[in-house]
Amino acid sequence: MFLLYAWDEDDQLAGFIVEPGDPGVRVAPVDGIGFRTCGMSSITLDGVRLPISRLVSHGRTDHAQRYLNGRRLTLTCAVCGMTRALLHHCQARLRVAVRFGRPVLDFPNVAGTVGRMRIAVEASTAMLHRVLAAAGRGDTHPSYDLMISAGKHFITQQALYVIDQALRILGGHGYYGDPYYGMFLLDLISFMCAAGTQDLLEITIGSLSAVSQEFA
Ligand SMILES: Cc1cc2nc3c(=O)[nH]c(=O)nc-3n(C[C@H](O)[C@H](O)[C@H](O)COP(=O)(O)OP(=O)(O)OC[C@H]3O[C@@H](n4cnc5c(N)ncnc54)[C@H](O)[C@@H]3O)c2cc1C
Repeated sequence: MFLLYAWDEDDQLAGFIVEPGDPGVRVAPVDGIGFRTCGMSSITLDGVRLPISRLVSHGRTDHAQRYLNGRRLTLTCAVCGMTRALLHHCQARLRVAVRFGRPVLDFPNVAGTVGRMRIAVEASTAMLHRVLAAAGRGDTHPSYDLMISAGKHFITQQALYVIDQALRILGGHGYYGDPYYGMFLLDLISFMCAAGTQDLLEITIGSLSAVSQEFA
């Protein structure tokens, strides 16, 4: 089932449950470049009529914002875990790749790069734990939480940094030796736009931070 929001004639946002089998609903697969298993699709509505029982919210944007606010945090957990897994995967390869008679991990430039990757992963984890703790205490803003958004932004940027660093020290293996890194990149790119584009999060966080004590 789908939760769809539509503006009504009074400029209010109405949230509806729509089933794929409802008359007039067409669902077609969308070819994203990553996250193919999440089943991205486009929905076309043609003269669809729904009973009032399908209306789950009506009013301002609050219902949608509340839903997206929480989902932003869930997605961020995935990015953080994916990035730590990437680090482990990369380290395992660097331990067994031997160049000039030594594991490449013994070269100081490679060890230093792994160090920077580790720092980024730990910084991401620390930020995520802080936001999760606040959410657990009920201390996050229900409709738009600045720290949830900052966490999504920061942890996505760290993930981009970590894959960039990994590809510098993996050599050709990162490109044609193991499809893991390419899949990571393709999946990760989706977080640049999903759950609020990085660009728009910066603007919203900046505006909220500057104007409201509530978000200080
Ligand atoms: C894997 C994935 C899953 C998704 N899942 C969902 C989902 O479940 N539900 C859902 O509704 N959507 C979903 N999305 C869509 C996603 O939320 C949108 O891509 C995102 O909100 C950006 O909207 P847009 O693509 O129309 O970009 P645009 O609105 O075209 O924005 C592109 C860029 O234009 C600029 N821009 C746009 N508007 C403004 C503005 N007002 N002020 C300043 N700059 C602006 C910004 O730089 C922005 O980054 C998903 C996307 C992905 C990739």
